[in-house]
Amino acid sequence: MKKTAYLVLIFGLFSSCSTVPLTGRSQLAFLSNQELQPLVNEEYAKALKDSEVVTTSTEGKQVVKVGKKMAAAVEKYLVEQGYADLVKDLDWEFNLLKGDQVNAWCMPGGKVAFYTGILPITQNETGIAVVMGHEIAHAVASHANERMSTGLVVNFGFAALSAAAGQNPTLTQEIFLQSVGIGSEFKMLQFSRKHELEADRMGLIFMAMAGYDPREAPIFWDRMAASAGQAPPEFLSTHPGPDRRAERLNARMPEALKYYEGSK
Ligand SMILES: [Zn+2]
Repeated sequence: MKKTAYLVLIFGLFSSCSTVPLTGRSQLAFLSNQELQPLVNEEYAKALKDSEVVTTSTEGKQVVKVGKKMAAAVEKYLVEQGYADLVKDLDWEFNLLKGDQVNAWCMPGGKVAFYTGILPITQNETGIAVVMGHEIAHAVASHANERMSTGLVVNFGFAALSAAAGQNPTLTQEIFLQSVGIGSEFKMLQFSRKHELEADRMGLIFMAMAGYDPREAPIFWDRMAASAGQAPPEFLSTHPGPDRRAERLNARMPEALKYYEGSK
């Protein structure tokens, strides 16, 4: 990581507690989205450089198409809910990357990547919308920020934080990647049950607002669970199913279906 990126980061460590749109849960997030931006830009550029970006295939175009519809929906939602100030932090980008990993993620601010390895499970545009909605929800709810804030404190402690982070940019970078859900083969950091429930609920609304049938979401998650076999895919390792996921999603369905009807 470049020195400037983590210096900006350290500078932001002593800010605030914020609130998750939708649930109103307050969270401990030391970093503002602007403070995370240099890290995001650097790591997203690296991810695109490390893999082949698929632009011409049907699926490559679908990822971009779903992304744009979802972005419009999310911005509308945030304005309607009184979180218009969060919209200015969004700088969307959507890419399909060639890679075997069954994974997709969204960095803070809306930089999204899908890997071709997840396409057999998403199967179609609506399946892509389920994953996209869920990942964007993690970003909108600042889950990575919350995880990173915790990770930095756990690894460095409050007192020696600025000095330690400055001396260990590799660890700081590792914490960031894990917080977003990228992780590495040996270090998977699971989103908590609390974060998964929030992302499921918001993701359902986002896909519905974007015009995709939210009833496909529980079906997708069943398909993902069934694909696990002996080695669970990256996506399931980082996004563990809260118990009775399908049931919980279906409980949220009437609310989501109102948004779906409104999208037509
Ligand atoms: Zn998740």
